[in-house]
Amino acid sequence: MTNPLTPAVLSDPVELTRVLVDIESVSLHEKDIADCVEQVLRAVPHLRVERLGNTVMARTELGRAQRVVLAGHLDTVPIADNLPARVDGEIMYGCGTSDMKSGVALALQLAVSLPEPRYDVTYFFYEAEEIDSAYNGLNLVSKSHPEWLAADFAVLLEPTHGVVEAGCQGTMRVHVSTTGKRAHSARSWRGVNAIHAASGVLDRLAAYEARQVTIDSCAYREGLNAVRINGGIAGNVIPDRCEIEINYRFAPDRDVAEAEAHLRELFDGYEVTLIDAAPGALPGLGAAPAQEFVAAVGSAPIGKLGWTDVSRFAAMGIPALNFGPGDPNVAHAVDERVEIPLIREGAATLHRWLVG
Ligand SMILES: [Zn+2]
Repeated sequence: MTNPLTPAVLSDPVELTRVLVDIESVSLHEKDIADCVEQVLRAVPHLRVERLGNTVMARTELGRAQRVVLAGHLDTVPIADNLPARVDGEIMYGCGTSDMKSGVALALQLAVSLPEPRYDVTYFFYEAEEIDSAYNGLNLVSKSHPEWLAADFAVLLEPTHGVVEAGCQGTMRVHVSTTGKRAHSARSWRGVNAIHAASGVLDRLAAYEARQVTIDSCAYREGLNAVRINGGIAGNVIPDRCEIEINYRFAPDRDVAEAEAHLRELFDGYEVTLIDAAPGALPGLGAAPAQEFVAAVGSAPIGKLGWTDVSRFAAMGIPALNFGPGDPNVAHAVDERVEIPLIREGAATLHRWLVG
């Protein structure tokens, strides 16, 4: 295919967003967009380019004292009859406009147009963020080529509506089980009903007061919720087992082990089985490039409540935050959209930050 990322397109972040959106790139189908991005980056004399699968990265090598990463995923969720992109006044609609080709456009434009940023910059465009982490380009590179990601600070250009969302909360799922004794329901007194016993677990959940934790002036609001319940054998059997699946979203002052210990203490007396967990990430606003970034944005950071790939950076010891023009409330929606003035503002903010 001829590369639609022409110099004219690359010079305008709004037009660049539109053209990137129109290169369809549902997860596991990022080859075309990665080819286009790689070709553009390889033509830039001040960048060194690497590629792994459909993940493309480019770095400046200016010998600056600090290095920052600008990262964005190239994939989108499946399209929903919402391509090509459509502009209506100040709004651009289409799959990926918010999550997160408007963010990718900001990084790509800076990569080609800024030969001498104040920090060395690693521009990282990766595949398969929207699906299982086994395919996630950031995850794969962090394992196979961690040196490509070495940096003092990272900005993930996920949709935040133009504010800084720092860190992220962790997430954990457990099964809390109750046991009883099986019997014929015609002689129910001979058994013990495990579903009835679940009320004890549900009572603890209903009475639970979730923490709100403030770190670096960012508030993280926790949540503890039953998300599924399973029990019962047949219409004439007293059930001997009931399993309540519980999701805990926890502030980043707790690690996974502390979160698990908290749930085991809370559900003391019940069988608790850990299903899966992912750690959160501290806001990490102490690093100088982070403080300069927050100053360039000009508004107070808020805590990120959902789990994002910033925690992969945090796990590598790199403080990271989320900042992007997209509206997170419409990410993955049929009417996914981005406000065009926020693309221009985001471009100006990043430029201000990297020029100093
Ligand atoms: Zn995203």
